[in-house]
Amino acid sequence: MIDLHTHTILSDGELLPSELVRYAQVAGYEAIGLTDHVDSSNIDFVLPRLVKVCGVLNSHWPIISIPGVEITHAPIEEIKQLVRYARRNGARIVIVHGETVSEPVMRGTNRAGIEAGADIIAHPGFITQEDARLAAKRGVLLELTTRRSHSRTNSHVVKTAMQAGARLVINTDSHSHESFITDSQRKHVLKRLGLKNGQIAAIDIASRKFL
Ligand SMILES: [Zn+2]
Ligand SMILES: [Zn+2]
Repeated sequence: MIDLHTHTILSDGELLPSELVRYAQVAGYEAIGLTDHVDSSNIDFVLPRLVKVCGVLNSHWPIISIPGVEITHAPIEEIKQLVRYARRNGARIVIVHGETVSEPVMRGTNRAGIEAGADIIAHPGFITQEDARLAAKRGVLLELTTRRSHSRTNSHVVKTAMQAGARLVINTDSHSHESFITDSQRKHVLKRLGLKNGQIAAIDIASRKFL
């Protein structure tokens, strides 16, 4: 199993990166993305630490740790610059914290993340058809989430992505090991969203691109 979106104490998660990765390994994960919240205040603090610890963990443990960032509530005008900074400084997963309905995310953030060339728009809320089409064209992945606060719009995201031809991923957005899920829970969530086996396999393939 692969999870491309989690948080550690380097932002608002509860565990050290090593602790979270260790729990993920025990839970049966093949790979885990450490993608702490960043904006212009802390990207230069968080990212090198995640790059460093992922390097250390990857040299000792079989689970693959992938350094990344989640650009969160940044002004729309700053997103492109932050995406570029993240890529130049070793982020292998660049997420933009999308327009979830559970937080006052600035309208236009989904679009700005897609145009900036993020890898994933996390919990994109009621993403528009137009933005989903642009995501499809640019190869930006749209996220389904098991995080309770953000998951209310999963059905909308599935429907909109399917119509637009955009690709999906599913992540836990874990802030501690307690939010990890099993492979069967993951499949259950995707099936309840109406996805067929072939579509679930496509999600797995999309996630593997980051390994
Ligand atoms: Zn958070
Ligand atoms: Zn997150």
